[in-house]
Amino acid sequence: MTTTTSYPDTRLLINNEWCDAEGGKTQDVVNPATGKAIGKVAHASIKDLDRALAAAQAGFEKWRKTPANERAIIMRKAAGLLRERAADIGRILTQEQGKPFVEARGEAIAGADIIEWFADEGRRTYGRIIPSRNINAQQLVIKEPVGPVAAFTPWNFPINQIVRKLGAALASGCSFLVKAPEETPASPAALLQCFVDAGIAPGVVGLVYGNPAEISSYLISHPIIRKVTFTGSTPVGKQLAAMAGQHMKRATMELGGHAPVIVAADADIALAVKAAGAAKFRNAGQVCISPTRFLVHNSIRAEFAKAMTAQTEKLKLGDGLAEGTTLGPLANSRRIAAMDKILADARATGAKVLTGGERVGSEGNFFAPTVLDEVSLQADVFNNEPFGPIAAIRGFETLDEAIAEANRLPFGLAGYAFTQSIKNAHQLAQQMEVGMLWINQPAAPTPEAPFGGVKDSGYGSEGGPEAMEAYLVAKSVSIMAV
Ligand code: NAD
Repeated sequence: MTTTTSYPDTRLLINNEWCDAEGGKTQDVVNPATGKAIGKVAHASIKDLDRALAAAQAGFEKWRKTPANERAIIMRKAAGLLRERAADIGRILTQEQGKPFVEARGEAIAGADIIEWFADEGRRTYGRIIPSRNINAQQLVIKEPVGPVAAFTPWNFPINQIVRKLGAALASGCSFLVKAPEETPASPAALLQCFVDAGIAPGVVGLVYGNPAEISSYLISHPIIRKVTFTGSTPVGKQLAAMAGQHMKRATMELGGHAPVIVAADADIALAVKAAGAAKFRNAGQVCISPTRFLVHNSIRAEFAKAMTAQTEKLKLGDGLAEGTTLGPLANSRRIAAMDKILADARATGAKVLTGGERVGSEGNFFAPTVLDEVSLQADVFNNEPFGPIAAIRGFETLDEAIAEANRLPFGLAGYAFTQSIKNAHQLAQQMEVGMLWINQPAAPTPEAPFGGVKDSGYGSEGGPEAMEAYLVAKSVSIMAV
């Protein structure tokens, strides 16, 4: 058994100090494996937000004047602490979110990697010199940080959804105020503690919790905030993007997906099952890039479905802290209700349930890993992001037909394909309407590659140099020698 770590209450981080909410309001945090309350999180009032905003402004004034190499030293130190503390933080994360401990500890370690990559990238925010039309003038493009950032992050990856935003913002010289998820508050607090312990100046990072709609409308409209970044569902993202537009704030939106997996007739079936199957059930399918629509050539569909079912049945469902667990509970009871609805609809529209298909036990949010075959195009699971442990399979006859189905939905985040033909791989790369495509492999979202979507999956990127651009302003300066 993995040793249990006691679960801490979470307070607000303002000016590098942990404080209760003004008025003392809190909300319970529930362990999804037991359904029991394990701690509390502070709920910020408007007065708390005003203090956090003033701190973010003061922090920005200091941080923007800190040279990039010095910013990198602090960020690298924080990343080192996060790596050192990964096991303890992982145990906290599993208790509040449910994912297996190995995945939770891995999330903290991956977070350290992302912070380090951005720390170094910040040292390369080169501007440029433009050949001037006047020999006495020097024309420059200077990259400057956009200003204090308001970030809103969800509960599926409590650490890494913050880290992708925080890494780019800090490396660019922005201060960063995040409203992290109330359902999984303690691991984000442990992440920010690493920055405090690394010696970051007060106000450069801040953490608040409370009523999401109240906090987002207050922060987005506030003149101190210059950039908004959100990860979550498409409907909420559209609301926040509209608000950001109304107040002329820059925005990055990382929203829902519905990732197609095209398994061509010439695919290595064992590889497709291993790679896409593992990606499917990671974090119990509560992942924006989770494979969701398995489009399998009719000539190999039966074999693929059989192998996928066998692999799925090997998963060990249980408390994420118990030894050997490979699939944890769903993060909240809303997901159980959503899975029940998806399954009822799938059955009613003619899908075959090859394995799973129901809730397991009455304590905690456990749902059996599920494989559906012969899924109708009208089925809910083929149209709305399932965000749960359900693999839905459907056959196709031609690659053109599969690509048309992949592109049918308004979402365009991740896509996967398996084929041994270079011709097919080229066609897929050119025609799939997604922000990220992995061919013959599981998802590999490294910090150095762009991470983001097209269409209703949002805009902007959270990886690669493109992620830095989102936090930088290009200032054009012309200096005439007189
Ligand atoms: P939701 O749409 O209510 O919330 C999604 C996230 O947005 C949560 O973290 C929530 O706190 C936050 N949020 C909600 N309203 C907000 C507001 N007005 N201002 C700021 N933040 C706000 O749904 P949910 O039940 O938490 O999750 C359901 C769906 O959300 C999932 O099915 C999935 O499609 C999507 N989701 C996507 C991601 C992702 O990684 N892209 C992560 C979590 C949830």
